[in-house]
Amino acid sequence: MKSKRIGLYILSTIFPTMILLSENPTKVIAHRGYWDCPGSAQNSIFALKKAAEISAYGSEFDVSITLDGIPVVNHDDRINGLLIEKTPYRKLQNIKIANGETLPTLKQYLEEGKKEKDLQLILEIKPHSTQEKEQEAVKIITSLVDSLNMANHVEYISFSEFIIKELVRITKNANISYLEGDLAPKAAKEIGCTGLDYRYSVLQKHPEWIGQAKELGLTINTWTVDDPKTMQWMIDKKVDFITTDNPLMLQKRIKENTDKYK
Ligand code: MG
Repeated sequence: MKSKRIGLYILSTIFPTMILLSENPTKVIAHRGYWDCPGSAQNSIFALKKAAEISAYGSEFDVSITLDGIPVVNHDDRINGLLIEKTPYRKLQNIKIANGETLPTLKQYLEEGKKEKDLQLILEIKPHSTQEKEQEAVKIITSLVDSLNMANHVEYISFSEFIIKELVRITKNANISYLEGDLAPKAAKEIGCTGLDYRYSVLQKHPEWIGQAKELGLTINTWTVDDPKTMQWMIDKKVDFITTDNPLMLQKRIKENTDKYK
């Protein structure tokens, strides 16, 4: 992989357009699914299906565990005022989310996602209040993914460095990316990450991290990029993935960039 990159680098200095033709274009990840359309809502199963329908590379979603260890899909640590990790699932199971769906469990979500063979499931494990709870969350979530034979269909992300280290410790060959943005590529590689998934402003502040990450064989994803100018900056930097609330606009822009060199 590294020698291929060096080869591409040498070629790109001689033939600048060749690199654009030979490298894969940036891929699109729908942030919390494709939710900005009729009938959809963030982190809904509908939004997951819509992300597949528009041929996104991946659909991102957020997972926490309840007091009794049931993983559920929701962005905030609370729903209807209830702190998820301190509430038994039976008290959450009838809650409706914004589009009228019942709050999805991770199991329900993955079972639907499994039908979408060409859509990667970008599973964010949310920080919990203690390391014990985070350890429990990682164990329960990865066991569920494995039991559904979905290890290759799921990629993990987290803001919690402890969760990242636990994922590295107990998974085999999983894609694991860190979200917080406070580790340089070398340090992220050292704790076992396979990729960086940093806020766009972090990469704009440290553009040298992009090249360093590529040299180290780390993938680069960036969030949450919704404006055309930042999209173009990231496409020009050849990041591997962009996570966006506006996947259709990003797809159009990536296509325009690819078409330019045909
Ligand atoms: Mg998220």
